[in-house]
Amino acid sequence: MVSSLRKPPRKLFAFDRQILSFCAIILLVAMVFVGLLLASYQDVRRDGWNDLRGAADVLSTNIEGSLRRADGTLSAVSHLLRPEDLREAPDAQRREDFNIILADHLREFPEVRNLYIYDASGATLFGAGIASSRNNVADSPWFRRLKSEPETEFVVSDVVPNPATGTPSLVLAQSVLSPGGSWQGVAAAWIDLDHFQQIIDHYPLTEHGVITVSSASDGKMLIHRPFLPEAVNRANSSELERRLISGDVAGVGEMSVAHESGTRLYAFKRLDVFPLFVGVSESNRDIVSEWVEQSSLIALLVLLIMFMLMALFYRQRRSQQVLRQANEALRRSETLLSESEERFRMTFEQAAVGIVHNGFDRSLLRFNRRYCEILGYDAEELAGRSYLLFTHGEDVGLSDEAVAPLLRGERSSVSWEKRYVRKNGQVIWVRLTSSLQRSAEGYPLHFITVAEDITRRKDMEGRLLSEATRYEGLLRTASDGIHVLDEDGNLVEASDSFYRMLGYQPQDGKQLNVRDWDVGATDEQIAESLRKHMSELSSVFETRHRRRDGTVFDVEIHARKVALDGKRYLYASSRDVSGRKLADAARERAEMELRATSARMRLVLDTSAEGIIGMDDESRIIFANRSAAGMLGWDTPEAMQSRPSREVLGHRVADGRSCAEAGCPIHHTLEDGETRRVSDEIFCGPNGILHPVEYVAAPLLVEGIPVGAVVAFHDISERKAMESDLKRSNAELEQFAYVVSHDLRQPLRMITSYLGLIERQLSDVLDDELKSFFGYAAGGAKRMDRLIVDLLEYSRVGRQKGGLTLLPLGEVIADGVQNLTVTVTEAQAAVTVPENLPAVMGDRSELVRLFQNLVGNAVKYRLPERPCRVEIGCRPQGREWVLWVKDNGIGIAEKDFERAFGVFQRLVGRGEYEGTGIGLAVCKKIVEHHGGRIWIESTVGEGSCFLFTLPMTV
Ligand code: ADP
Repeated sequence: MVSSLRKPPRKLFAFDRQILSFCAIILLVAMVFVGLLLASYQDVRRDGWNDLRGAADVLSTNIEGSLRRADGTLSAVSHLLRPEDLREAPDAQRREDFNIILADHLREFPEVRNLYIYDASGATLFGAGIASSRNNVADSPWFRRLKSEPETEFVVSDVVPNPATGTPSLVLAQSVLSPGGSWQGVAAAWIDLDHFQQIIDHYPLTEHGVITVSSASDGKMLIHRPFLPEAVNRANSSELERRLISGDVAGVGEMSVAHESGTRLYAFKRLDVFPLFVGVSESNRDIVSEWVEQSSLIALLVLLIMFMLMALFYRQRRSQQVLRQANEALRRSETLLSESEERFRMTFEQAAVGIVHNGFDRSLLRFNRRYCEILGYDAEELAGRSYLLFTHGEDVGLSDEAVAPLLRGERSSVSWEKRYVRKNGQVIWVRLTSSLQRSAEGYPLHFITVAEDITRRKDMEGRLLSEATRYEGLLRTASDGIHVLDEDGNLVEASDSFYRMLGYQPQDGKQLNVRDWDVGATDEQIAESLRKHMSELSSVFETRHRRRDGTVFDVEIHARKVALDGKRYLYASSRDVSGRKLADAARERAEMELRATSARMRLVLDTSAEGIIGMDDESRIIFANRSAAGMLGWDTPEAMQSRPSREVLGHRVADGRSCAEAGCPIHHTLEDGETRRVSDEIFCGPNGILHPVEYVAAPLLVEGIPVGAVVAFHDISERKAMESDLKRSNAELEQFAYVVSHDLRQPLRMITSYLGLIERQLSDVLDDELKSFFGYAAGGAKRMDRLIVDLLEYSRVGRQKGGLTLLPLGEVIADGVQNLTVTVTEAQAAVTVPENLPAVMGDRSELVRLFQNLVGNAVKYRLPERPCRVEIGCRPQGREWVLWVKDNGIGIAEKDFERAFGVFQRLVGRGEYEGTGIGLAVCKKIVEHHGGRIWIESTVGEGSCFLFTLPMTV
């Protein structure tokens, strides 16, 4: 049962203490911040006021200074007046003088435009300054005031136009008193309002700063910055008026101004001496503008920080909430877990199957009671051990393979079967099902494996499988056509070989009936036959089967009846015996063949003139023919059999000594399997007669290994005798030739010399014709002598005594060409001989003769019209050297190539070229004596090439 966790209601912003304190802190911070802001606001305003106060001080001092100077001037000139100047009208001179005095004073004060002295009637007595002119000021308020209040020290007028220039001016006037103290008139200085305007204009203020200079008595504004003509002589602000009336001489304050939004901060100062005061004001907004900018920025920052704090607080609250919920859930799940653990423990322990937790090192971490029972071990014996302890030796590694997909994360569980060896040594089969326990984070912890003892099932399966396998194997592999028929002759099952035998496919099996392949019987006969075989326990009979393609073959059938589930079946096995029949016939034929061959061989052996014996690998005679027996003096060939060949052959070497095994060619053939031909050894039969023999020893090889030898021999006694006869007759012939040549040449020399004597004696009587007859006779004799010499040489070839020696061909050719020096020089022939010629085995004088004859012919048979060139050459070919002598002479027609080598054969007329026709015959004999061949390659008119071979030295 799964219990779900109920979610607590969300009370994220419940007003608990935490929220309250957080809000209080935020509020406090906000209040402190606002307080600080306000304080700084007041500071800024205070600073503003200080600046305004300073401005009022500075300006009042400046203005007062100007007025003081003007006042001092007025006092000075007043003192220069004479009493009579005001009482009676001064004369023109006096007026002029005094005007000059006035003008001198005036020069020192550029801000004062005019200086005037007025009499008591207000008429101008003296005057100096720009466009100074006379006028009457009796109506001017300032004049009237001084006149009415003579004790007044001085008066500053409203703004009035300068009588001379019309420019707005202030008049500073003081009474002129007689020495007795009576009022006599007025001294007045006209100061350009512009002078004061400049003073206040130059003071540094903001754009909206306002400066006023006003009368202290009535509060009227005299000078105004910014310059406003309409403000001149107008009442000042009520606030300032109030302050002045209340008697303040200086102060600061804040006031509202008509037509302006917001308030202005102001400061004012009354001049110390003169009845004027200076008021300076700035718009409150201008003063605090910088503060407003900075404060807004700071406020924004503070707000931002507060917002972030709130956000942080919100998040923290939220995580706390979640944590609380998680803790709650954890507590619940812990409870559930402990319950479920208990349940699991019970299940684990009580389970009917073995359960085990395996570590990755194959160790058993936990296992239940059943697992111990399966293995027959106690729990203590298994704890912490590896499962290899009881894994069957042949199944080690099976588990690792099986759990690999779990570790790779490909499967969630795997099952496999393996063998355990119980503590008592009994081998059991278990089926293991494993899954991988992972941690909450997904890390693999251990395997949980369920083990079931399946030994009994396995045994059963094994038995069934082996039965089925055997049966299946039989059906698949049997060479005989095994098939099962039901009572109606339908094919129930058959081996592959049966289908193959009949040319059907296994899938055709279901439709087949014995009638499809049984030959030569009616349906009734087949049914009858079936019945018969199904009634007998087993039977063997021969019949014929028909293949699917219609061909028929002989079979032998072994049948057995079987009853299964109340039905009867015939289990039959057909064997194709047509092959056997054919094989029998073939074997018979082969045997006959063998017998015939054997008979033929026997016949050959018996009729062969050569003695033939066979021996095994131990040199024992296994057969011999009649000739062998007859030749060696044995009664019958059979008498030779089974004897050692040494005894039978009486083998000896040429000089009659016994042939040692180490040097015996027959023995060597038995050892190395090589065929050997020997021509001068001796066999000796039991009668002791020696037979010089020539024999061939050939190996009997089985798969390349010598298992015996056959020796075929014949007696060469006769040939030996003939050879010695020949030798003797040759020697006699040589002797005869020598004698003949010697003896024949003697009478020839006599004929020649006597012919010469006769010719000399009869020289006077002989006519030319007879002389030529004598010439022919002498020439004939000479030619005969030449022929005899050549013939002698020809007969001697091959009979020199020295034998063959190793000869460098270069030396041999050099000797031959040397012997022809005269001929070659006369013919101006060029003979080229190659360098690095090989050495060959040969007879030196014969080879010198060979080259001498060939080079001599090459020079002799040259063409007169072209320079004679003779080239000697040599090249290897197989195991021979091919040598040649090539010329550019007359050449030889192809039909004469053979004939040229015949004795006395000449291809040219005697008159054309000298010669006996023996030279090439000698060459041929020499080459053949050295084991070579000689031939011609030539084109008539172009030249001839005589080629011959000499064997290479081994
Ligand atoms: P001969 O004494 O006539 O030279 P050879 O036996 O030396 O006898 O030669 C046989 C014949 O072969 C010669 O008569 C000649 O006609 C021909 N003969 C031999 N050598 C050459 C050659 N180098 N060129 C052309 N003909 C040749």
